Parts: sequence; structure tokens; C-alpha cells
Amino acid sequence: MKHKEKLRALAEKQEPNIQYRYNCFVCNDTKGRLYIKKTGSKILVKCFNDGCRFENGTVLNAEPTYQDTYQKATRQVQDKYQTSQSDVYFKTLPDDYSQTIPKDYKRYLLSLYISDYLIDKYQIGYSNRTDRLVFPASDGYLARSNHSKPKWLNYTNTFYQSLYRKDLPARIFLVEDPISCIRVGEHAQTIALLGTSCSKNLKQYLRNKDVSVWLDGDVAGIKGALKLKKDLTGVSNSVSIIHTDEDPKKYNDKNIAEIIRCS
Ligand SMILES: [Zn+2]
Repeated sequence: MKHKEKLRALAEKQEPNIQYRYNCFVCNDTKGRLYIKKTGSKILVKCFNDGCRFENGTVLNAEPTYQDTYQKATRQVQDKYQTSQSDVYFKTLPDDYSQTIPKDYKRYLLSLYISDYLIDKYQIGYSNRTDRLVFPASDGYLARSNHSKPKWLNYTNTFYQSLYRKDLPARIFLVEDPISCIRVGEHAQTIALLGTSCSKNLKQYLRNKDVSVWLDGDVAGIKGALKLKKDLTGVSNSVSIIHTDEDPKKYNDKNIAEIIRCS
């Protein structure tokens, strides 16, 4: 990864289709045996020092791929917000993922207190082709539409969770949707069920943990919470239910903190 960035930085300064020679920073050669040539879309790399990992030639895309860009963004987020989530986000984002969010979607996010801070922290973006908000997850992403059904599409194999923070209590909160997850996640470790029931994977993950179930305020939420409590009893260390009239995401931060404290 570091090597690729270095090679790209060198190639950026080059005229296209001309072979340049450098001292190789990989094998520490000092005889200028690293050859780099930039064509329209590729960077050709070959080191003529025997045994160098670039001995057999390497081809890079001249522009960083979206994976490169987003892996870098992931590292920045991890550094900036001091989270220790080790999984790399962004492995499989839509190829037109962009951080430019249209106004109506921005309004929707703001109406649920998803601020620019949270948009940046969770790298929420937008795919123009599918007209959906994109919520990167540890092994894929979730996509939300305000205009077509189903509202949420799930392209992950695990579950969507708030960014882990050491300073938060170990109790895990289960909520229905990713937006509630991000909001409650500012106060406690939180996982989005993407519905009201618990997958096998998640059940395994919740073994011997303290769990609070905080689903939406509607009938489906109430029923779901009771069912979850039944399913997790004997699996998790403890299971409590929080019931509120509104969905978790509808409350402001002060309310959420209070509700959690009083639960
Ligand atoms: Zn070399």
C-alpha cells in the first residue's frame, strides 16, 4: 500500500510515455535501477536489481482505485475518531460512491440529527446510479432510498454496528435501523438489527454479553423486543428492554443519554 502510494507520487510528476529511472526504495538499490513509465491509464514499474519484488514488473492504475481511496479514508476515520474497529470499511462500496449527498437526503439525515460530524465519522455517502444513501459497514454497505422500496438494502454479511469506543460501557444496545444505531452509538455500543429479529451470527456474538433491546415505538417494535428477550435469554448474560413512544433516532442526544442512564 505504501509502495503503491510512493509509486503514484513519482509517476504524477512524470511526462507520460517516457521511462524514468530512480534509486529503488524497495530494495534500497542506489544505481537507479527502478524504471517507472506512465501511460494514459497505467503505471509500469520494473526494478532491474535481482531479487527485488519489482523485478518482474508491476502494473498499477494511474488513478487510485476507489478501494485505495476508501481504505485510506477508513484509516483517517480510525485515527481521527480513535476507534479501534479493525475491519477495513469500503471493501465493496458501489463504484459510484461519492461523499456528495443531494440536498433532500441531507435534509433527511439532519432531521434525524445525523450531523456533518456523524456523516464524516461514518463516511455516509451517496450512489447516484441507485439514488441511495450509502452506509459503509465492516464488510460491505447498507443503502437507503427515500424514493423507492425497499427503503433499505443490505449488502453486508455481518451486522451494522456503531464504531467501537473503549470509553463506553460494555452493555450492547440493539436497535432496528442504522440511523438509530449511529445516534445511540454516540452513547453506547450499538448494533442495528435491520428489522426486529436476531440473526444466528448476531446471537453468537451476543453470547454472555449484557444486552439492552431498544426498538421502535410501534407495535412491531414492542412485539419484536419481547421475542428478542425470549430468544436471548440463556444466551446473553442479561437482557433488558427499553420502550419509548418514538424510535430511538427521533430523540435528541440529551434525551438518548437520559433514556440510557435511566434504563
Ligand atoms: Zn528494487
